[in-house]
Amino acid sequence: MSIVCRFAPSPNGNLHLGHAYSALVNHAAAREAAGTFLLRIEDIDATRSRPDFIRAIADDLDWLGILPPAPPRLQSAHFSAYAAALAHLEREGLLYPAFETRGEIARAVLAKEADGQSWPRDPDGAPLSPFPREAMPDSARRRRREAGEPYALRLDMARACTLVGETLTWREAIGGPLQPPQIITAEPARWGDVVLARKEVPASYHVAVVVDDAVQAISHVIRGQDLYAATAVHRLLQTLLGLPEPIYHHHRLVRDGDGRKLSKSTGAASLAALRAAGASRAQVLELVARNLA
Ligand code: GLU
Repeated sequence: MSIVCRFAPSPNGNLHLGHAYSALVNHAAAREAAGTFLLRIEDIDATRSRPDFIRAIADDLDWLGILPPAPPRLQSAHFSAYAAALAHLEREGLLYPAFETRGEIARAVLAKEADGQSWPRDPDGAPLSPFPREAMPDSARRRRREAGEPYALRLDMARACTLVGETLTWREAIGGPLQPPQIITAEPARWGDVVLARKEVPASYHVAVVVDDAVQAISHVIRGQDLYAATAVHRLLQTLLGLPEPIYHHHRLVRDGDGRKLSKSTGAASLAALRAAGASRAQVLELVARNLA
C-alpha cells in the first residue's frame, strides 16, 4: 500500500505550535514510508477563512522545510463534490433541515436542566438538539427551506445507524502513525443529529473531510486527539457514501504553559510571531517537544 498523509489546517487564523507538530508528524510518517505528504486547505467556511491565512500556512510550512511540492487542495474549489455527497444522503432520506438557532437550542436545554432533567451532550460538550425530526413534518420543513429561511441540514442519526445496520469500527494506529492498527468501536450516535451543512456553509467539516480523504486517496489520517471522537461520524459517513476507510492516528496535543490545549481563540503564540521574534526552526521544534501533552 502506498502511504499518503495530509495536513489539513483551516485558514481562520495563524498556525501555532500544535499545527507545527501535526504537520511534522504527517511529514515524518510519509517520509519514513517513502510515501506522499499532501496539504489541504479546509476553507469550506467562507465566513471564517481568509486568503492571507492561506499564504501564511504555506510560508510557515516552507520555513519548517516541509511544504509539499504538490499544490494544496482547496475545499472552496470543490463545493460540487460535497454537494453530491449531501445529495446522496438526501436521496436516502437521511437529511432534514432544522430551523432552531444555536441560541434556541441552548435555551431549551437550559430550561430542561433547570427542571432537573439531565440532557445529553456530544463528545465536544455541546448539548444535543432537543428538537427531534418528528416534531415537524418533512413537507413543512421543505416549505420553510424553499422560502429562504436559514437552516441547518442535520443527519437523522437513528435512521443512518439503522441503515448501516452493523456496529461500526475504525482502525487506530496507537503507538505511532505507522504501527499496526487496533480496532476501535465507533459510536456515532453520541453526536446526535449532527449538522452536515448550513444555509450559509454548503458542507460541514464532517462531509468535506470524508470526501477529501477519499479523493486524495489518504491512507493514513494523522491528526490531533481532539478529533478522536469525531472519527465515529467520519466512519458513518464513509459507510453511507461507500468511501474507503483510511487508518487513523490521533496524536498528542501541544499544551500551553498552563496545560491548556493550544488554540487560535486562546491567543496561542503563532509560528509567524515566534519567527518574527527571532526563533530558529530548532527552537520551535524544541518548544513543540517540551509542551507535548
Ligand atoms: N481542519 C481541521 C483543523 O484545523 C483538521 C481536520 C482533520 O485533520 O481532519 O482542526
